Amino acid sequence: MYSLGIESTAHTIGCSVIQVYPEKLESDHRGKILSDVRAVYKAPTGSGIHPREASRHHCEKAPYIVKKSLNDSGIKAADLDIIAYSAGPGLGPCLRVGAVLARTLAAFHHKPLVPVNHALGHIELGLMLTNSLDPLVLLVSGGHTMILGFNNKKWRVFGETLDITIGQLLDQFGRAMGFASPCGSVIEQLADESSMRYLPLPYIIKGNDVSLSGLLTAAIERGNEKDTPLADVCYSLQETSFAILTEAVERALSFSNKNEVLIVGGVAANKRLGQMLRGACKRLSSSLFICPIHYAGDNGAQIAWTGAIDHLSTGNRIEVEKAAIQQSWRLDTVEVAWR
Ligand code: AMP
Ligand code: MG
Repeated sequence: MYSLGIESTAHTIGCSVIQVYPEKLESDHRGKILSDVRAVYKAPTGSGIHPREASRHHCEKAPYIVKKSLNDSGIKAADLDIIAYSAGPGLGPCLRVGAVLARTLAAFHHKPLVPVNHALGHIELGLMLTNSLDPLVLLVSGGHTMILGFNNKKWRVFGETLDITIGQLLDQFGRAMGFASPCGSVIEQLADESSMRYLPLPYIIKGNDVSLSGLLTAAIERGNEKDTPLADVCYSLQETSFAILTEAVERALSFSNKNEVLIVGGVAANKRLGQMLRGACKRLSSSLFICPIHYAGDNGAQIAWTGAIDHLSTGNRIEVEKAAIQQSWRLDTVEVAWR
């Protein structure tokens, strides 16, 4: 079957066509990404995502993105089996662009329409691409910082942020230092070039939940000091925030009796985070899986794939008139009938 997926929760509008092999759903060759086209809204230097401006960007790019995705895949719209869209969580104005686009395509071409939880999309594509089976998941992105394990039809939360996400920590710190958002990769590069001098920063973990806003304030203060090299602050910020996450993952891993860890979300691209978690996995004789960098951030393939396996296993679809969005759609409320 062929599934077209649309992603538009925040900075990225993406469209992808995936070929899914229903008879091989249990094997390593269950899906093939035929196309993956994206356009990313870039906020002016120093500012974050403005939802109205991002949605305007998505409206402008949408026709090109869909057309190119279909062209690249070599599949005609008439031959698609389903249209899937990211229905939340995310920024309302951005989500609405994807939902309208998906509704229009589904109504015009008479295709089943399947809403997908964006966070679930990150996880399902990560599982498909790494062949991890039953991992503890670290979802680290602009919108999420969560540790999750699957149990009895739902992804259960084993720890999460009490305030800002790890992506917000990195992006807000970077913007305060004058970088353009998203800032994670610039911070990583500066940290790599630093003298590795560790500057003490607040390390806050409460039970298995993390708190990152005090760390943000302290890091910005250190970053604004004239005589402190910015690279050392970037290094210390990464060391502190990733150590907090690693502690939470390591504890959850030892209590949950899982023996795999999977990192998904845009921050999964960070090599130092991977290195720290590899250490934790080694200590607990577990395997580490990292979503390939190209598919770590937001993209349409996550949605096409998740919509397809949902539709194939449960028949899930939604009437075009009822296809809404949910800005605060928590992953732990989603029933995952196919696992
Ligand atoms: P997502 O919301 O999943 O698209 O992820 C976006 C987030 O990933 C942003 O906050 C980026 O700053 C962050 N990010 C991207 N690349 C890196 C990297 N190499 N290291 C740390 N964070 C990163
Ligand atoms: Mg995301």
